[in-house]
Amino acid sequence: MNLIKYFPSNINEECGVFGVFNCENAAELTYYGLHALQHRGQEGCGIATTDEVEIYRERGEGLVTEIFSEAKLAKLKGDNAIGHVRYSTAGGSGIDNVQPFVFRHYTGDFSLCHNGNIVNSRALKLMLEKQGSIFQSSSDTEILAHLIKMDFRKDRLAAIVEALNMIEGAYAFLIMTPKRLYACRDKNGLRPLSIGKLNGSYVLSSETCAFEAIGATFSRDVEPGEMVIFEHGKEEITSLTFSYGSMRKMCSMEFIYFARPDSDIEGMNVHSFRKECGRIMARRFPVEADVVIGVPDSSTSAATGYAEESGIPYEMGLIKNKYVGRTFIQPSQEMREKGVRLKLTPVRSLVSGKRLVLIDDSIVRGTTSKRIIKMLREAGAAEIHVRIVSPPMRHPCFYGIDTSTYEELISACNDVEKVCGIIGADSLCFLGEDALLEAGNRSELCLACFNGDYPTFLYQTKSELNTEGKF
Ligand code: SF4
Repeated sequence: MNLIKYFPSNINEECGVFGVFNCENAAELTYYGLHALQHRGQEGCGIATTDEVEIYRERGEGLVTEIFSEAKLAKLKGDNAIGHVRYSTAGGSGIDNVQPFVFRHYTGDFSLCHNGNIVNSRALKLMLEKQGSIFQSSSDTEILAHLIKMDFRKDRLAAIVEALNMIEGAYAFLIMTPKRLYACRDKNGLRPLSIGKLNGSYVLSSETCAFEAIGATFSRDVEPGEMVIFEHGKEEITSLTFSYGSMRKMCSMEFIYFARPDSDIEGMNVHSFRKECGRIMARRFPVEADVVIGVPDSSTSAATGYAEESGIPYEMGLIKNKYVGRTFIQPSQEMREKGVRLKLTPVRSLVSGKRLVLIDDSIVRGTTSKRIIKMLREAGAAEIHVRIVSPPMRHPCFYGIDTSTYEELISACNDVEKVCGIIGADSLCFLGEDALLEAGNRSELCLACFNGDYPTFLYQTKSELNTEGKF
C-alpha cells in the first residue's frame, strides 16, 4: 500500500490569504476564514496576529482543522491577524515554507503572506544573496521581505512600494506590522483580493465566500496595482496606487475551476459565470442526447446551464466522495482491477443505456477524462459527448497554478480530434476564449494557458520552458 498525497484534480491552486484588522477574536475569525478558503490549498496553513506590540504565529502542515486547536488559537493574541492556506508549486513543501512568515528586525518586526507566484524570483534572489541576504525558506514569498529591508533607512511605505515594483508576476500580499496592515495586488490583477466589513472592522480575503462564513459583508476589491493600508487610530483606510498602467487580467481559471461557486470575483458570481458558459456551450455545440451530467463539483454549474439552454434534463450521473482526505491509501493495481474507485462513482441507473452530454471544466493531461469516460461506459452509457467549458489548455501557467509542463498537456501536442480519440469520447468540443469574456461580461482576462499570451515577461527562454516546463 502506498500512502499518497491526494489532490482533487489535475490542476492545483497555490494558496489563499485572509486578514482581519482591528477586531476582537481576530485569530478565531481568521481560522474560520481560512477554513472557507481550504479548497485553495491543503498542504499547510498558518495564522499570525499582533497585539500592537508583539507578533505571534502558529503554523503547520495539514488542514486548518488539523493544525489549529482552541489552545493554539488562544496563544494568538491581538485584534489584527493574517492567515494563509498553502499548496506549493514554487518553492516546494515543508514547514519552513508554510506562511505567514515572520521577520524580526531592529527597525520593526513584520509578518507577510502571499497568494501567487513571482516570475523574476530567481534573478531577485540572486541579487539579494549577493548583497548578503540569507533566506530561511525556498519560497519566493520571502523575497518581498528582503526587498523591503534592502535599504532599511527608507521610510517603510516607500520601501514597500519600491519592493512591489521590483516584483513581477501574480500576487495578493498581506503585510502586517504591529500597527498596520497592508494589502497589495499585482498590477495585472491576476489574483483576487477583496475587502469586507464586520461590525465596523475590516477583513480581507482571496475569495468573498469567506466573508459569508464569518458574517462579514463585501465592501470592495483591492484594485490591480493598489495598496490599501489599515492603520490604528485611523477610521478610514488609505489607498495608494503603487503601479500605473494596470490591467484587469484576472486568472480565467479562477472563474472556470478554482474559486468556490458562492464567491464573487470582480463583481461576477462564479456559479453564474459557469452557468452562462454552459448556456453558451449548448448554443454553440448542440448534440442529440438523453441526459446532461457534470463532473462534480466544479462543472455542476455549467452542466445545469447546458441543460436549461438545451432542454435536455440534468442528472446527477456522477457522485463525488467528499471524504477522500488529503492523504489517502492508494488502491493497489489488484484493488483497481476489482473496481475500487476513490473519488467519483457513476450512478448506473441514471446513465445506463443513455446518450450523455458530459460537461467538464477543463482537460489538462487527459488521464482523468479518460478514466471517467471508461467508468461511464462500464456503467452502460450508450454515447458520451464531452463538452469542455474552457479552451484547450496548451501552455503552462507561471502565475501560481500547477498546470503541468508542455509535454504533459494533452492539447499542447494533439488536436481536438486526436484528444477525443485518446480520451475515448464520441465527440469533443471546447469553448472559445471569446465565450469566457462573454460569460464574464468583461473585455480582459488572463487566458495565457490557452493562448500563450502571458501578461508579464517570463524571465525564461522558450527553449528552457519547453524542457523544464516551469520554474
Ligand atoms: S496562465 Fe492560466 S492558470 Fe495561469 S494565471 Fe493565466 S489563466 Fe490563470
